[in-house]
Amino acid sequence: MKAIDVEEFAQICLDIEKDQKGQGNYANALFISELRKMISTFPTVDAVPVKHGRWLPVLNGIDDDTNPAFDCSECDAMCNKKHNYCPACGAKMDSEEQNE
Ligand SMILES: [Zn+2]
Repeated sequence: MKAIDVEEFAQICLDIEKDQKGQGNYANALFISELRKMISTFPTVDAVPVKHGRWLPVLNGIDDDTNPAFDCSECDAMCNKKHNYCPACGAKMDSEEQNE
């Protein structure tokens, strides 16, 4: 499932509705108005954007389990193993390593 920002969608519909009404296209304006009302009845969830990060080895150059610890690239939390998500800030640890 992919989520959309229903408030932004409704605002875009409202802008189109006003534009169509202004041009005298009342059938289009009515259709968009009905669409805007329909979308407002859909169930919603509160969502936050997913934060992405990566584990930075505390000992440079050792990127496996022999490293004693890893730092979260997003919040600097230190962990003794590479979790899929940072337990401190919730970042999903799937960012690609950046070449410097
Ligand atoms: Zn973190």
